This record gives sequence, structure tokens and C-alpha cells, in this order.
Amino acid sequence: MRLIAYVGIGSNLDDPVAQVQEAFEELETIPDSVLVARSSLYSSKPMGPVDQPDYVNAVAAIDTLLSPEELLAALRSIEDRQGRERGGEKWGPRILDLDLLLYGKKKIKTADLTVPHPGLHERDFVIIPLAEIAGNLNIPGRGSLQSLIKLCENHSLKKLITGK
Ligand code: AMP
Repeated sequence: MRLIAYVGIGSNLDDPVAQVQEAFEELETIPDSVLVARSSLYSSKPMGPVDQPDYVNAVAAIDTLLSPEELLAALRSIEDRQGRERGGEKWGPRILDLDLLLYGKKKIKTADLTVPHPGLHERDFVIIPLAEIAGNLNIPGRGSLQSLIKLCENHSLKKLITGK
């Protein structure tokens, strides 16, 4: 069954704007899937260690026939192709981070996957780009995006490049 999955994109190393734009191009190549929306690109202040560059963030909507596990595997392989190194410190700098934010209306909790993504509801750098491409969405177990926007952490989000 087709459904819409939302993917969070973040980068703060090696020309983050170019990394995020390349990630969008890569997301277009995922099998049995169509990239249906791209948010604007935003800059945000880092979570966790502060002595690292600002992040560039965006969100993509993907119409997909893949299972959530297949989609996560596709996201991991895009991260690897763009040179993501694993095993760094939690919330430390990274070339590319792709998170499966939402998979239709499903709630998933396995060893490898928690959906909705556990940080989604409290991060402005996820909620604001998500609201741009899916304003009326409800986050399973959390409420409407519009109500979450008012409550989320502030990472000094700034729009860099308008999406399409
Ligand atoms: P990171 O790439 O540092 O964000 O973390 C990747 C780890 O989080 C992997 O081991 C994934 O299996 C796990 N994970 C759990 N839920 C998710 C999700 N919704 N999206 C992406 N990774 C997830």
C-alpha cells in the first residue's frame, strides 16, 4: 500500500547546503518511491555540544511502497554514499543525518526503528520545515503540528533557501 513518509535531513559538515541538496537528489532515486515535496532549507544552532558548526535542515515527503525497514535501509545507504562516518559522539557534527520522521500514521517501535521519530515533536528544525510541506498533519500520540510549533525548543531557525 502506498503511503507518505517524511524524512528529516540535517548536515553541519563539508558544505552543508550542498549536502542537503544532494540528499534531496538521492531521495529521488529510492526504488518504488516518489519524492513529492521538499521543504525550504533552514540553518539551526546545534543541539548537544555547542562547539560545532550550525546545521542546515530540511524535510522531504516521499510517496512510497517500501516497508519502514526498507526505507530506513535506503536512508542509511544514502548517508554512507555521502560519506557519513559512524560512531561519533551523540549529537556531534555529521556530514549527513537522515531520520525517518513519520511513516503514514503508523507507530513503530523495534530495536532499529522508533516512529514517529522520538525527537520530532520538540525540535523546531524538524517541525517548522515539516509544517511547510504538511501543515495539517497530526503526529500520532503527540497532537497537531500547529500545536507542537508553539511548544518546541528554539534553535534560532533561519530560512536559507526556499523549497519547492
Ligand atoms: P543517527 O543516524 O545518529 O540519527 O541514529 C541512527 C540510529 O537510530 C540507527 O541505529 C537507527 O536504527 C536508529 N533509529 C531509530 N529510530 C529511527 C528513525 N525513526 N529514523 C532514523 N533512525 C532511527
